[in-house]
Amino acid sequence: MRIFDPHIHMTSRTTDDYEAMYAAGVRALVEPSFWLGQPRTSPASFFDYFDALLGWEPFRAAQYGIAHHCTIALNPKEANDPRCTPVLDALPRYLVKDSVVAVGEIGYDSMTPAEDTALAAQLQLAADHGLPALVHTPHRDKLAGLHRTVDVIRESNLPTERVLLDHLNETTVKHAADSGCWLGFSIYPDTKMDEDRMVAVLREHGTEKVLVNSAADWGRSDPLKTRKVGDAMLAAGFTEDDVDQVLWRNPVAFYGLSGRLQLDIPEPEGLHEGNSILRGGE
Ligand SMILES: [Zn+2]
Repeated sequence: MRIFDPHIHMTSRTTDDYEAMYAAGVRALVEPSFWLGQPRTSPASFFDYFDALLGWEPFRAAQYGIAHHCTIALNPKEANDPRCTPVLDALPRYLVKDSVVAVGEIGYDSMTPAEDTALAAQLQLAADHGLPALVHTPHRDKLAGLHRTVDVIRESNLPTERVLLDHLNETTVKHAADSGCWLGFSIYPDTKMDEDRMVAVLREHGTEKVLVNSAADWGRSDPLKTRKVGDAMLAAGFTEDDVDQVLWRNPVAFYGLSGRLQLDIPEPEGLHEGNSILRGGE
């Protein structure tokens, strides 16, 4: 089974995770830039983080045979902090980088006016740079949040076929599918979607434009949830081709809209800016 995890925060994960993911079939992933769990106090912290998503993290992933791409954005939560909003002005210099395959994660957290501004500005940046957008849907007030999100996308210059709506569930999938956007589902250990609920959604809605991710990060999460969904699909009677569509071809098609996916990873280099994952102990 070949797996592309379209949403996972490897910065928060260990080399054991990379090893286990490779063994489970993960050969490619996208790491969206997001909220680190505590507030950043200046744009410079974002820039160091973006540079890590473009340099150090792909270097780590390559040591384990996994192709690493990222999405860059000011996340919805920190869009509310005036100390962070100048990040918006600096985004164009990151969005031209080769391994940036979308603008994201953008969207709503608490649906504030500051979030409106950041969402609209970043959908425009995606349109300007020929990139698709990864749009996170709110964890609270899910359906109202989704309606508002889709309205803002429709008013933007980015066509819905270039948008992936993420963190969907049974209550939001219908409206999301009607919008023409791609459909993302995050599978978590004990909240939100699990693998059996995911299989039920796939039975009802089919496999077209559906992407499944682990969204693994610094919280309780499981970087092997993609594989577990593949196994659950097979156990429920889906074919290997169905599994390949959801876990590989759909994410390749969506992020391929950037024109920048590079799935053959070059022979990993031993050093990144003079440092190795062996911390000098070679
Ligand atoms: Zn995320």
